[in-house]
Amino acid sequence: MTDEFAGTITEIQNQLNFVLSDNGRNKEGHTVFTIVSNRTGTRFTYRVKRANKFNEQSRKWEPSNVWFVSVLSGSDNQDDYRFIGTIFDRGVAPKFFAHSNKSKVSKSASSFVAFSWYFNNLIEGNEDAINNVEFFHQGICGRCGRELTVPSSIETGLGSICASKIGA
Ligand SMILES: [Zn+2]
Repeated sequence: MTDEFAGTITEIQNQLNFVLSDNGRNKEGHTVFTIVSNRTGTRFTYRVKRANKFNEQSRKWEPSNVWFVSVLSGSDNQDDYRFIGTIFDRGVAPKFFAHSNKSKVSKSASSFVAFSWYFNNLIEGNEDAINNVEFFHQGICGRCGRELTVPSSIETGLGSICASKIGA
């Protein structure tokens, strides 16, 4: 499954939408993608899980503005993800990615450095930098985890209903 690339996302805004798309309703998170460097061939598979927070007024769990990023560290083991850091959205400033003290993966680890580089360029809209990597999803909607079946969804990694919900 890990090596089954079901689709590639080329548009920078579509990549950003996908990376942050998780609806937070699954313990593991739905958003899985692989980034491959065109120059070195180095690749990492990441999983981004959006945290939920409890809304006291509606009495419902809702997606928060925090996303936990993990890297796949075993080649075949779907469950072998290691937490590397957190994406924050504080509203006034651009979203940012930070290393976590709780992570067993160091700040100098290539998986951390690669994601940090990638996400910063994504947020800044640096197309030249982003064009140096290829972005693959696994044919599973980044928001809800359902299988993607139509071509327009393969291009964005999001089912049509989910795409409309995140304004993609
Ligand atoms: Zn979906």
